[in-house]
Amino acid sequence: MLNLVNLLLTRKCNYECSHCIGTYGPDSEGKLTLEQAKYYIDQLPEQQTIDLNLTGGEPTLYNELIDVIQYADKVREKTSYPKKILMITNSWWAENKWKTDLEILVRNLILIRIYSQIQN
Ligand code: SF4
Repeated sequence: MLNLVNLLLTRKCNYECSHCIGTYGPDSEGKLTLEQAKYYIDQLPEQQTIDLNLTGGEPTLYNELIDVIQYADKVREKTSYPKKILMITNSWWAENKWKTDLEILVRNLILIRIYSQIQN
């Protein structure tokens, strides 16, 4: 049994925080293909994974995020794993009145962890 799997969808981020633990930022390249993301999600039931954590970079910049969430939810419905779908986001979209299908899906489906820093 695994308590948590972090799925790093993209290295791209719209911020460049000084405390960032990775080399993530606006110019960062590299992301999973949707097929790769689905492949990893398919492994979760066999490992009895409790939490799937979608992360980056900034995962909301990943173009296929809705597809990933919907796929993970289908796997969860079918197998009962993962128990929870989580996402770490810098919440840039909150200031921008993010009103999209993604917002509705995220609000209904997953738990969001918001991290931020106070800028000087
Ligand atoms: S928002 Fe997160 S991923 Fe993006 S630069 Fe800051 S710490 Fe790194």
